[in-house]
Amino acid sequence: MKYALVTGGSRGLGRAICCKLAKMGIPVLINYQSNQQAAEEVRDAIQSEGGSAALIQFNVANKDEVMAALNQWEQEHPDDYIAYLVNNAGIRRDNVMFMMPEEDWNAVIDTSLNGFFYVTRQLLPKMMMRKHGGRIINMTSLSGLKGMAGQTNYCAAKAALIGATRALAQEAAVRNVTVNAVAPGFIETDMTKDLPQEELKQLVPMKRFGKPEEVASLVAFLCSDEASYITGEVISINGGLY
Ligand code: NAP
Repeated sequence: MKYALVTGGSRGLGRAICCKLAKMGIPVLINYQSNQQAAEEVRDAIQSEGGSAALIQFNVANKDEVMAALNQWEQEHPDDYIAYLVNNAGIRRDNVMFMMPEEDWNAVIDTSLNGFFYVTRQLLPKMMMRKHGGRIINMTSLSGLKGMAGQTNYCAAKAALIGATRALAQEAAVRNVTVNAVAPGFIETDMTKDLPQEELKQLVPMKRFGKPEEVASLVAFLCSDEASYITGEVISINGGLY
């Protein structure tokens, strides 16, 4: 059986991605860090529609937690493997650089970039060994493409993720594993609820924030057979804001 793992699957984009992949008939592992109740709600929503979902708690930024949780899952599922990995967990700790505490720099890099490394490194060997290969989708951001004042930590992490996506795509292609990045603009989630939304909407050519379900549809396409020859790409989804 081929499973999907969505890091940060308890809320926002991750939640919508879990629901969408489950609708495609893929059993989903919902990762979360601390909000168990939100993760349980996602699981229950999927199960009530006949889908298959389970929780898997770990902090993506903690190498030992990642290894322990995924090793345990692999031991309990010797005939299965995680064929779809969505590296979605991410945080913001915005500040202008001259005032940025070191811990905020490190927290953002640790979650988006090191989290990608710890989880992907653990799952890649199994994906590359299986005939059916796998799909890796990394959640980057418009900020990682263009740079945004007040977000040097976030932009650095997201830009690095784009470089890693392109490099890993070339390493894994021969084993039928595709690696792509999705770069959303402003999407309606907890992450953006403290922003001045009305002001920011005016900057977006479509004059609105995107919905998590719109990003989930793109991720689902990249996981589908229709996307089997797409790798090393960064696909923007931003209502025309570049
Ligand atoms: P969100 O609503 O704040 O949700 C964040 C999710 O990540 C939660 O499920 C949270 O788990 C999880 N998480 C955070 N740190 C984690 C860690 N160390 N280990 C495991 N899980 C962790 O964020 P979002 O807006 O959906 O963003 C999802 C991704 O899209 C992020 O990578 C973000 O940078 C990117 N993105 C978002 C936007 C946007 O406009 N929203 C735009 C561009 C890119 P808990 O529930 O346990 O806290």
